[in-house]
Amino acid sequence: MEAMVRAYVGLGSNLDDPLNQLRQALRELDGLARVRLAAVSSLYRSTPMGPADQPDYLNAVAALDTSLDADGLLVLLQGIEEFHHRVRGMHWGPRTLDLDLLLYGDQCIDTEHLRVPHQGLQERNFVLYPLAEIAPPGLVVPGQGPLAELLARCPETGLERLEEALP
Ligand code: ATP
Ligand code: CA
Ligand code: CA
Repeated sequence: MEAMVRAYVGLGSNLDDPLNQLRQALRELDGLARVRLAAVSSLYRSTPMGPADQPDYLNAVAALDTSLDADGLLVLLQGIEEFHHRVRGMHWGPRTLDLDLLLYGDQCIDTEHLRVPHQGLQERNFVLYPLAEIAPPGLVVPGQGPLAELLARCPETGLERLEEALP
C-alpha cells in the first residue's frame, strides 16, 4: 500500500454554467485513479481578480487523498481543465475551469511548473474561506503559518457563501 497524501485543490469557474463545471470537475477528480475525493467545501461566489469586465466566479475547495506525487497530480488537473475546454487567454481572464493545487501534504515545492503552497493563497479569500471549512483544526500552511491566522488577516470583501450543495 502506497502512502496517501492529503492534497487540497481550489476550483474556480466563471464561464459556461459554472456550477455545472464545478460539479462535473468534482466527479472527474473522484474518478481519477489513485485519487479519492475526501471532502468538498461549500460553494462560494467571488468577484474576479484581474480584468473586471468578466462574470463573477464560483469557487470551492476539495480535499483529495492521493498516492500520486505532486507533479503527477498537477498533470491530471491540467488534463481535466483541458477536458472542460479551458482556453488560455489573458492573465486571470475568464475560464470554464481552473484547478489550482493549493497544498500537497506538508510539502513546499518550488519548481518551474509547480509552486506549493499555491502562490496567492494567503491573500485570496475565495481560497482561504472554503479551505478552512474542510481543513483539520490547527492546519499550518507550510512556510506561511496557521490557516486561522491567514484567515484572520484576509477580509471577506466580495466573497459570498452560497446555499447550493456541492457536489
Ligand atoms: P494563479 O496561479 O495566480 O491562480 P491562474 O490560475 O490563472 O493564476 P494558470 O494559467 O491556471 O494561472 O496557470 C499557470 C501555470 O501555473 C500553470 O501552467 C502551472 O504550471 C503553474 N503552476 C504553478 N504552481 C501551480 C499550482 N500549485 N497549481 C496549479 N498550477 C500551478
Ligand atoms: Ca488560479
Ligand atoms: Ca491555475
